Amino acid sequence: DAGLEKTKTNFFEQLSKAVVGKSTVDESVLDDLETMLVHADVGIETTVKVIDRIEARVARDKYVSTGELDRILREEIVGLLEDNKSGSTAVLDNAGSSGQPFVIMVVGVNGVGKTTTIGKLAHRFHSAGKKVVLGAADTFRAAAVDQLIIWGQRVGVPVVSHGMNTDPAAVAFDAVQKGVEMGADVIIIDTAGRLHNKVNLMNELSKIKRVMQKMIPDAPHEVLLVLDGSTGQNAFLQAKEFTKATEVTALAITKLDGTARGGVVIGISDQFSIPVRYIGVGEKMTDLQLFDRHTFVNSLFK
Ligand code: GDP
Repeated sequence: DAGLEKTKTNFFEQLSKAVVGKSTVDESVLDDLETMLVHADVGIETTVKVIDRIEARVARDKYVSTGELDRILREEIVGLLEDNKSGSTAVLDNAGSSGQPFVIMVVGVNGVGKTTTIGKLAHRFHSAGKKVVLGAADTFRAAAVDQLIIWGQRVGVPVVSHGMNTDPAAVAFDAVQKGVEMGADVIIIDTAGRLHNKVNLMNELSKIKRVMQKMIPDAPHEVLLVLDGSTGQNAFLQAKEFTKATEVTALAITKLDGTARGGVVIGISDQFSIPVRYIGVGEKMTDLQLFDRHTFVNSLFK
């Protein structure tokens, strides 16, 4: 039940319940706060960190009213998240090209919204006047290749593809080469996310990187891990596996519309020290937002 889910994880409501009838932040308020953060999928490590910080403030200031708790909690959570001003976000913000294309390698398991996110990203860069090339290097699934081609047509950007069951590294190489030739600003490479075969995944991703570097020595400039924000602990597990398989530098968290389980965003970003770049809030081309930590944290309390 989507409505119940939302109620369960609405920070503001839960916070109000935790402090009802109390004027100061005490042990029991902190206990309730802890339960609320865990239920919102913030993850135990990050929850403990937040509670410890608030506890330290309470100890220092002696008297902290429950009325102040809302603001303090927001401050502490914002403090855990990074400002989103680097990587592909910076490319999006800067007018003009820096000379060589910015290469984004996109990783994530099937079904999380990887292809959709690439389509939305392509749209976002294209709309900002950037030249974009897509590479269909998730050659393991026919649907992935087809879907990416459809997105390319929809957005109006070229897609380099060799079809299904072809060498992903060769696709990536050709996409980067095409990007260089046409003076692209951004090259976005889709990859297969087969977590059940970790050695294969690791080898495939490092081979893709190696061949790209023949064209652009410091590529990829961003390794964007796509996670489904509505999957709670699964998203944490995927982050753990992918960070073992390759160096993930940024996150895109999808499906944050409908469910209010935004806690995943805070926990994963904090636990793995990876900045969140984008959040997916629907199925349409325009349903991708640049992550802003202040806006995001405030939205949790609405
Ligand atoms: P992939 O297998 O990871 O490439 O996943 P797809 O891109 O094919 O997406 C799987 C499903 O999730 C599709 O039905 C998408 O429309 C949907 N989807 C992707 N992103 C979002 C999002 O941010 N919000 C919602 N509601 N649906 C999304």
